[in-house]
Amino acid sequence: MSSHQTSPHFAKEDQQTIDRLVAVRRSMLQEREKGRHVHGLTLVTKNTKGFRFKGLNVDSVTRRRYGEYATLVPRGGPDDVHGSAEPRGHEMGATATILHADLDAFYASVEQLLDPRLRGKPIAVGGGVVLAASYEARAFGVRSGMPGRRARQLCRDLVFVGGHFDEYQRLGDAAIRVLSDFTPAIERISIDEAFADVAGCTHLFGSPADIARTVRARVRAELGLPMSVGVARTKHLAKIASQVAKPDGLVVVDPATELEFLHELPVALMWGVGPATEARLATIGVTTIGQLAESAPESVERLLGHAAGRQLTALAWNRDPRPVRSRGRARSAGAQSALGQRPAIEHVFKPTLHHLADRITARLRAKSLAGRTITVRVRFADLRSVTRSLTLPAPISGTRALAEIAEDLVRGVLANHPDESTISLLGISVSHLEAQAIVQLELPLGPAGEERGPATKTAVARSRADRALDAIRKRFGREAVDYGSALRGVRSVPDEFRRLAEREL
Ligand SMILES: [Mg+2]
Repeated sequence: MSSHQTSPHFAKEDQQTIDRLVAVRRSMLQEREKGRHVHGLTLVTKNTKGFRFKGLNVDSVTRRRYGEYATLVPRGGPDDVHGSAEPRGHEMGATATILHADLDAFYASVEQLLDPRLRGKPIAVGGGVVLAASYEARAFGVRSGMPGRRARQLCRDLVFVGGHFDEYQRLGDAAIRVLSDFTPAIERISIDEAFADVAGCTHLFGSPADIARTVRARVRAELGLPMSVGVARTKHLAKIASQVAKPDGLVVVDPATELEFLHELPVALMWGVGPATEARLATIGVTTIGQLAESAPESVERLLGHAAGRQLTALAWNRDPRPVRSRGRARSAGAQSALGQRPAIEHVFKPTLHHLADRITARLRAKSLAGRTITVRVRFADLRSVTRSLTLPAPISGTRALAEIAEDLVRGVLANHPDESTISLLGISVSHLEAQAIVQLELPLGPAGEERGPATKTAVARSRADRALDAIRKRFGREAVDYGSALRGVRSVPDEFRRLAEREL
């Protein structure tokens, strides 16, 4: 079953035309994807009664080859099934089995659940900064991340409520457990959202769409919270689908029509595109994912950097091979920073390494993990990378300890490559991860590492500082506080991209 068959309103002739159109559109997109030039692949969108009408506006060469057609797809909306997720032996050999489940306006929904007087009212969690806004508040333009004062200007009746953090954790965990009743292949990416791959359990529980409906119904009935779910062939598309589904909806994207679905959406919906990237893309006239896909990859890379540009172009074509990884399989945590072309000197690499170490260890500590093997990656001007590792006798999760070990390793790399004067990327990865119920103090580390020793006052103070920072960030977000030496200027790639890249590790 594909998208057009979800509508019973078409006459038989129309249906045949539509089948043809869908096939043509798909083959054109495939040609384009293979790097073949298809001229003037432009979509013209009109709204007719209940449907979106798309015309393929092609030049004469392409028209001769394919003819000129149009496609009709059902209009999107809550509980809209854009096609279906039933396996259909489609030529890509893939079916839509990845769910992205995301609780709606999570913190605000929990507050409304806990206090019935807040239901139906515009509320925001936070104070100085809006951490979450109810849909009633969003109707006034209130958004998370917005200064509280601005939010009050937009919505006079806005009620700020304090955070019931223990309840967030409890209800977030409970919602993810509902997903785990269907499959062990769950990858939780934040307190209130997770991916699940249901490929292995459809014989037990029905199609991915059925599973998604059941999960939504159970979370609503058992926890009293609205959850939106996207179902698609890739993680990236499933996450986009869940955003399209909001509030309180389900969108299933049929692999046969996924590019039609994806390409008309705004780039801001893409995982990794924040306001800054969105604004940059707008400077080359790119506002939809389709426009991004059809832009010259070189111009996107020039604009956003090589790695980020490539990544986004791939995602715009729904090329996202990342599997759903359950937590048990996490083997390492890492982060990297593209620097452009910077001199290979302490003044450049120390703050960068500190920033990377901060990001990695904060994630490790949040998951009560620590790692024994530290690997640094240094990329030189000619894009050649060198790595160097050190395995410690005991695992670490402290920011300063990791930063200092990484510095030592980078110094070692540079000493071995005295002719290299420019670095273009630095990365740190921590592997051999172990669970640590209580974050331990850091181990002593050779002659220079004495001050990292567990018994010293310095080590105690550092561990306290790490935990204090973690607590503040847990409440107010990553950007709320930073170590003094982690220079903001060293970030040449937006944090959204880092988060995108780091989730993979
Ligand atoms: Mg959410």
